Amino acid sequence: MADTSQPSDVAREALRRLAVRKIPPTPDNYRSLYHEISGTPATDAFPERALKHVAASMPRATPEQLEAANMLDAAVQTRSWPEIAAVLRELTVRKIERTRNWGHLLREVVTAALAGDGDARKRDLDEVVQSGGTDGDQLYPRLLGMLRTWNAQPAQVSADSANSGMPEAEFADLRDALADLLERVLGQLLEDTPELHSQTLRLARYVREATQAQDIADRRGEFRELAYRVQWVSAERRELQETLQSVLRLIVQNVAELVGDDQWLQGQMAMLGDLLSRPLNQQHLEDVERRLKDVVLKQSALRDNLKEAKDNIKAMLAGFIEHLSGFTRSTAGYSEKLGGFAQRIGRAENVDTLAGLVQEVLGETRAMQISVQTSHDEMLDRQQRVEQAEREIARLQRELAEASAMVRHDQLTGALNRKGLDETFEREQQRARRRSASLCVAVIDLDNFKRLNDTYGHRAGDAALVHLAQTVRECLRPQDVLARYGGEEFVILLPDTELEAASSVLVRLQRELTRRLFLANNERVLITFSAGVTPVGAAEERDAALERADAAMYRAKQAGRNRVESSPLPA
Ligand code: GH3
Ligand code: MG
Ligand code: MG
Repeated sequence: MADTSQPSDVAREALRRLAVRKIPPTPDNYRSLYHEISGTPATDAFPERALKHVAASMPRATPEQLEAANMLDAAVQTRSWPEIAAVLRELTVRKIERTRNWGHLLREVVTAALAGDGDARKRDLDEVVQSGGTDGDQLYPRLLGMLRTWNAQPAQVSADSANSGMPEAEFADLRDALADLLERVLGQLLEDTPELHSQTLRLARYVREATQAQDIADRRGEFRELAYRVQWVSAERRELQETLQSVLRLIVQNVAELVGDDQWLQGQMAMLGDLLSRPLNQQHLEDVERRLKDVVLKQSALRDNLKEAKDNIKAMLAGFIEHLSGFTRSTAGYSEKLGGFAQRIGRAENVDTLAGLVQEVLGETRAMQISVQTSHDEMLDRQQRVEQAEREIARLQRELAEASAMVRHDQLTGALNRKGLDETFEREQQRARRRSASLCVAVIDLDNFKRLNDTYGHRAGDAALVHLAQTVRECLRPQDVLARYGGEEFVILLPDTELEAASSVLVRLQRELTRRLFLANNERVLITFSAGVTPVGAAEERDAALERADAAMYRAKQAGRNRVESSPLPA
């Protein structure tokens, strides 16, 4: 049991009880427990700080206010609740008296009565006085109420009457803002429609010169007319923009078809097509512009290199041909010379002449040998340089295509990315519709891919994704389209394929994938996937078809993975 004479023991015990009884440790709870233990009467603490704050915030502008504030200060200082109560009482009484300032009220009533419709206000006043009678307590609030009503009504004769009760300064602000709006905003928007432009500026001038609201109100007809005409202009502009956009879209489509195999242009065209298929928006435009610039920059640099490489080859070929003709010339000279030697040998009469001739022939032959050797070396050298230039061209062309493909292809697997899929889906769907052909879409998801990552590492996981993409490319038809839809999820579009055939294609792909060797850390790993496949309706939203394929894929997972589930078109 705590020694209740020692405050520190009492305090400790109070804390213990708070904990034992699981009472929230608030100051109030602590205080009442403290009093309970020490047996002292439980009084609330005097909120000295808060009250000082209140006293300090009291107004002290008039002698009366100063007196009240000082009284409160003193009451707080002495911690006297009765004195505080006395100050509050005093203040309340004074407040009521001041509020009932009859003189002030009467002056207000008279001023208001003169400012308004005299007869009506006289009637109001009669009524209030009659019903309020002689009882000041009743009359005072009634008169106040009447005054409030009068003041809320627009007065008839007042300095601000022309501005509907709006103070002068406020009117000027509003007027200037309206003039600015007309001049700077609307005026600029209408710059290419001269007539409307000058009409707007004229109105802006009137507004700016207005000295009262009525001046502006007088022009309401012109405002209405301007609003009407601006509406027309903006509707026309919207149409124009839409038409422009669809013309551009057509051009881009045509160019895209024309450039055919020219992959580097295809990427850019695809991006432009994508941009134009949506409502234009500044941010999107800037984004596309930036990316397009990157690609264009890279491509132009690559194109320059490519041209240089081609020029090199040309120069080498020219040199080679020249050399070749030189070579034929020298061999022709050689056989001619040999012919000459043969005749001279035939005519030779003695050994000395013959020996001299043989020497000559040998000399010629050596010279010929050297020339042949040099030509041979040079030809080899040139051949190597041509090959190198050809390799360089191939590399540059590849890079060029990659730079362009960046915008539509997944960097890791080279499959289309989502954006690429969006476009291709639409194109294939349109094509299928035009030809009344069947188009199927499959969603495939690698099985237990997380385990593969966890066991062999992320790199092995990446390699497996590349492996899958490679297998799809090699084993499906060229017109089938592979897109990476998310982490280890792919979408395959199968044009001109009925559902049953599409399903068998996927089963074949599964078999092929398990047949091919995939090594992770020198260990053979079996890669399987689950797939869902469904036909794409002619007028169906892409997402609806994808959702159906995805649901089918999920069924394949549920059924034990490494299988294909089909989902027919809903009736
Ligand atoms: P389930 O058979 O049910 O599909 O199982 P799961 O493990 O394949 O599916 P889950 O969705 O649980 O895990 C997918 C894993 O794929 C999780 C993530 O770490 C991995 N992943 C996603 N994208 C990539 C990627 O680009 N590279 C690699 N290496 N792993 C990826
Ligand atoms: Mg998945
Ligand atoms: Mg998976």
